[in-house]
Amino acid sequence: MGKYIAIFLSLFSFNSFAEDKPLTTPTCLPEAVLTTPITLFLTESIKAQYAPFVIEGHIKSWLEHSNTVMRNSCIPMKRTLKEVVYISELLDINFQDIYAVHDLLAYYYPDRIKSLQQNQSHHHVYPYYGVVFSTRNSTFNPDKCGQTDVTLYPQFFVLDINCPKTVLEHELGHLAWANHDIDTLSDQTEGYLFDLATWLPVGLHSKIKQYAYGYRCGGKGTVMSYADELHPFYSSPSIAFDGIACGNDVYADNARVLREYAEAKLEITN
Ligand SMILES: [Zn+2]
Repeated sequence: MGKYIAIFLSLFSFNSFAEDKPLTTPTCLPEAVLTTPITLFLTESIKAQYAPFVIEGHIKSWLEHSNTVMRNSCIPMKRTLKEVVYISELLDINFQDIYAVHDLLAYYYPDRIKSLQQNQSHHHVYPYYGVVFSTRNSTFNPDKCGQTDVTLYPQFFVLDINCPKTVLEHELGHLAWANHDIDTLSDQTEGYLFDLATWLPVGLHSKIKQYAYGYRCGGKGTVMSYADELHPFYSSPSIAFDGIACGNDVYADNARVLREYAEAKLEITN
């Protein structure tokens, strides 16, 4: 009897952590892991504004947060930093427009960008690259803090260094075709929620999954939600916060979206 109690307690402590309300995450099956090394291009103005240890601290906190999300959501991916490159050519003012930023980056660093875009054949590795800027934008809105366009640049994001540590994973979520929660998206698309595919070329329609939406539970959002506070996990019906499921099989399982994305890349790079 005592043995059973001990096993139960150890499982329980493994699957929850000491917040005021209990988080229950699924037990993840061991599987191959996709490493996603990230190259960050930082504007020189960031170097002028922040001491090196502050910049390093920001980057470290983004990656640690992302990897906590991966563990909690059972996603077989590991976020790592490949390299930090300082760029004097891009000004923070450019960051209103992700297309202009990518054009300039590709113009000044053609070989590096080409090699990042082609460097997908190594075992279990899929690289990302992003430009980090500084507008001192303190109002939390993930899509003012960062930007992606997965249809044009499946490995690229822009990010404001002043935004919360949760924004990097939010943008990487977009690159895996995860969407905002339904309330946010409904506002943004004026109600045309499940017609997203009509905006995309036919070849990309299969990327749109009906379960690829964020979720809100226990007063907080999951990674892809717009909320003042975010949980460190993607929406998933297998994750519960304070006994309430933080997702739905049919329309809110971004953890599955990310897991399938990783598994597809692992197959390609095998
Ligand atoms: Zn977003």
